[in-house]
Amino acid sequence: MGRQQQQAPFPATDCGGILSSQNFRNFTKLNVWATPDLVRNNYSFSPRWLGREFQKSSRMKHRMVRKSSRSLLEKTSGPCVGKATWIKRLRQQLVGWFETNAQPFPWRKTKDPYAIWVSEVMLQQTQTTTVLKFYPRFLARFPDVASLAHAPLEEILKLWEGLGYYRRAIHLHRAAHQILTDFGGQIPRELPLIERLPGVGRYTARAIASIAFGQRVPVLDGNCRRVLVRLINFTEPIGHSRTDELLWEIAAHWVDPQHPGEFNQAMMELGSRVCVPRNPCCSECPLQQLCRGRRLAEAGKLPVSAPRPPVIRQQELTLLLVAEDRLLMWQYADKERWGGLWDFPRIPLTADSPLFGEGNPPALAAPPGAVDPHGLRHALRQLSGCRKNALQHLGSQNYSVTVYRIRAEVFLLRLSARKCSEVSQRISRWAPHREKAWISRQHLRDLALTRPARKLADELARLFEGERQD
Ligand code: SF4
Repeated sequence: MGRQQQQAPFPATDCGGILSSQNFRNFTKLNVWATPDLVRNNYSFSPRWLGREFQKSSRMKHRMVRKSSRSLLEKTSGPCVGKATWIKRLRQQLVGWFETNAQPFPWRKTKDPYAIWVSEVMLQQTQTTTVLKFYPRFLARFPDVASLAHAPLEEILKLWEGLGYYRRAIHLHRAAHQILTDFGGQIPRELPLIERLPGVGRYTARAIASIAFGQRVPVLDGNCRRVLVRLINFTEPIGHSRTDELLWEIAAHWVDPQHPGEFNQAMMELGSRVCVPRNPCCSECPLQQLCRGRRLAEAGKLPVSAPRPPVIRQQELTLLLVAEDRLLMWQYADKERWGGLWDFPRIPLTADSPLFGEGNPPALAAPPGAVDPHGLRHALRQLSGCRKNALQHLGSQNYSVTVYRIRAEVFLLRLSARKCSEVSQRISRWAPHREKAWISRQHLRDLALTRPARKLADELARLFEGERQD
């Protein structure tokens, strides 16, 4: 061992363990806490001491947050907020409203932590109506952690197709493995352990803990945030970590200790059905007597959002390479956007694109300014050496991914057996880290494709069907 170990100035009584630097990193990751002294020195620790130190440091952190939160809260909202009677009425009215108005979603008819976890992951960034189409099918095929962990990722992605944000499915699969190996197939009850599962963030962990295990922890999704902000007439822009921390703290203060799961779900449901983004239906709201935003006629203007990141426009080239009845596809690597999914070769038409530069035909030797499909067609003919009528411009495809607004020029290139390997080798060099395969048109239906690729595959099927009939 390179560095001499030091004894901590406290008795290491009940564990006697020495935390290796790796374990220490895991521990501090788990608790989001570390002090420079502990990082620098390789101490031996007692878990009891570690627990005390963690509580001390987290109390300090919370005291600091609370102090700045309180001043911000006092500045923005009225004196009613935080009063015990006000909170009591809030809990009673909200939970009472939920008891009679809750929508009968399938995930509300169970207390199975696995089923609740799957629903919470599916509901991330996705509308309830969409999730309702996928959830029963998914649970029928994967009724428990073990069936999900043992299934091939391909199959999970295929079942996920259409729900979007495929990384969620990959994380779900990884988390199922972890639950099986580390927790014997049971979702852990402790919040820090739930939070450590792949794909489970602050919101999802607390939703599982409160709904499945009845723990008194808050949730704060977009709907809850809107209700909360309007109730207290919070006029600061939201989306900054400081204001977000404050809202989390208020939500934690409000959660009903008797019915935390119902309280949290009621906040979300109220936000999605009554306290909607535009024109909240205040006359139907169970909290109208308590709502400061409504009283000040400010509710419709809240929440005030932080400025959005600017939209980035991008051009792409998508190539549908057909040889006999097979198409060249590539699979995105795990860490990439769309990791694990298959797609037609598509590359951005930017200056650093592998389509341009040395080793390419003269038309592609330097990046053009605004890419015009005629120039691109000419360049692609040079690149492939194919006959004029082998290349067809099928038009443009527009789609959005996060802040990107993408316009893809889609070309269909029919390759002879002779040209096939030469062109596919050249295209393979554009993304050497990705898996490539020639996939038959029938098999395309069973493959987990990206959303734009699925649309193109459907269009291609119609095109070939039309040609066959002609
Ligand atoms: S009274 Fe209106 S603004 Fe206030 S919580 Fe209810 S719906 Fe939202």
